[in-house]
Amino acid sequence: MIQQEYPTFIDSVGHEIAVGTFYCIGRNYAAHAREMGAEVPKSPLVFLKPPAAFIPFENAVLHRPNFSSEMHHEVEIAIVIGNDIPLHCTTDFEPYIAGYGIALDLTLRDVQQKAKEQGGPWALSKGFRHSAPVSKLVSFDTYPHLTFSLSVNGEVRQKGDTALMERSFESLIAYCHSVFSLREGDCILTGTPEGVGPLYAGDTLTATIDGYLSTHCTIA
Ligand code: ZN
Repeated sequence: MIQQEYPTFIDSVGHEIAVGTFYCIGRNYAAHAREMGAEVPKSPLVFLKPPAAFIPFENAVLHRPNFSSEMHHEVEIAIVIGNDIPLHCTTDFEPYIAGYGIALDLTLRDVQQKAKEQGGPWALSKGFRHSAPVSKLVSFDTYPHLTFSLSVNGEVRQKGDTALMERSFESLIAYCHSVFSLREGDCILTGTPEGVGPLYAGDTLTATIDGYLSTHCTIA
C-alpha cells in the first residue's frame, strides 16, 4: 500500500475526514500543571498545530527533528469535528463531533523551554511535522467518560481519566468555537495527565483508550 503523504482522519465507520487545525489545550490536568511548575490557568491555554502535524498513530515511525535534543510524549484524548459548526452555536455540539481518538502531543521540551524564557511562540516546539499522531476514531452519542494510558517499552508512563480534566469536553469545544470557529476536520487535543517524559530512538509506544482501542508506534 502506498503511504498517503497527507493522510486523513478515519471515523468509526471508515469515512475519511481531511485534517484541519489542531487546537491544543495546555494544563487541563492539575497534576501535570504542577509537574511543569505551573498553575491551572484561569482561562484555557490554547496553542495550535498545523494540519501536517497529523500522522495516523498505528505503526507510525516518528522522528525527533534535528533542531531539538529532547522530545517528550504527552498522551491526550483527541476530539475530531465532523461538520462545520454554525458560527453562532454556543451549545449542543454533539452532532458535530466525528469521534474521539487517542493522540500524542509530541513536544520538543528544550525548544519549548527556550521559547518560554524568551516569551516566544510554541510553534516550533509543538507544531512540527508529525507532532500529532492520532488513532482511528470511536464515536459516542454523548460526551464520554474515558480512561486512557500510554506505555513506553511495555512500562506504563501516563494514565489519564477525563473526570480529572479541569475543563470538560463541552466547555473546551464551546471555548475554542467562540474564539476560532471550529470546522470539519479540526481537532482539539484535550490536555495531558502527569508523567510526561523523553522518548529515545528504538522506543515502542502503546496508547490505549480503555475498553475501546489500543494503538502502537515507534521512535526512529
Ligand atoms: Zn499537550
